[in-house]
Amino acid sequence: MARKMADCRRFESDSDCTLTIIGDEDEVVRTAAEHAASVHGHADTPELRAQLRTMLEDEHEFVPGTRVAEPFPG
Ligand SMILES: [Zn+2]
Repeated sequence: MARKMADCRRFESDSDCTLTIIGDEDEVVRTAAEHAASVHGHADTPELRAQLRTMLEDEHEFVPGTRVAEPFPG
């Protein structure tokens, strides 16, 4: 099964965060939620984790270097 990716470069953020997390889906969701709470000031809730899960990309979509950020949805 393909690994999944959560890419902070994908969305605009106050800190211009460049972190990319790649791993099995559950690992990425857990780590991304902890990162969103510790770095981006989100509350680590089941709702946040559910939203993160819907925003994962496949690992083969990873692009090195910089990425044009889009506004965070919602
Ligand atoms: Zn980040």
